[in-house]
Amino acid sequence: MQKGLVKGRIAELVYPRRCPFCDCLLSGGEPYLCRRCASRLKFISGPVCMKCGRPVESDAVEYCDNCRRREHRFIRGFAPFPYRGMVQDSIMRFKYGSRAEYAGFYAAAILKYGSAHLEQWKPEMILPVPIHPDRYRKRGYNQAEEVARHLSVELGIPCASYEIYRKKNTRPQKGLTPSMRRKNLSDAFAVRDGARLPARVLLIDDIYTTGSTLDALAETAAKAGAEKIWFACVSIAPGQSV
Ligand SMILES: [Zn+2]
Ligand SMILES: [Zn+2]
Repeated sequence: MQKGLVKGRIAELVYPRRCPFCDCLLSGGEPYLCRRCASRLKFISGPVCMKCGRPVESDAVEYCDNCRRREHRFIRGFAPFPYRGMVQDSIMRFKYGSRAEYAGFYAAAILKYGSAHLEQWKPEMILPVPIHPDRYRKRGYNQAEEVARHLSVELGIPCASYEIYRKKNTRPQKGLTPSMRRKNLSDAFAVRDGARLPARVLLIDDIYTTGSTLDALAETAAKAGAEKIWFACVSIAPGQSV
């Protein structure tokens, strides 16, 4: 953990920090995002699905359409932001534009928005969605792992980076129907020989759409000994028809 912090500070000296939304250079008094974007940014508020945390129309609605239609392998989860507008643009740069540095802000947002859940769940380990080594080589980092490492330092619990790996370089999920997503992901993850996870595990990803990726990962985590599995994502697709 100490190593991560020191590395972060050195990186800050070499690469000036940028606002995750407008990409401007930040001043010393702006720890995560610029003042202009801070005034425009909105966390998800109002009633949400009790399973996945997606906004729903009213308090009378317990679950979103997606969670009503299918059973998930995790207990519950949340995301601080809807995946649209400035958040969507930011995540695209985070994922495909070499902006791994945004992870610190995303982790802080997860902690701020989800503190009550995290205090209640008491996860013992954080498990970011692993990416295939080929994709890792191309991108240079795993975006979910970047967020997870910051959360790990802040929460003081370990981040799993070895125990579960991605054995299949799946097609991007975008544009696939829910059943195609599940098929695409079957056997995507595997447990390393002899690896064990603790009972309470928190999965981390950048975008939640249908939950198929997290369901597949939760299933694999359960094989490695996880008993209670929750998730936190940076953003969630707000649409009801997913
Ligand atoms: Zn900004
Ligand atoms: Zn839901």
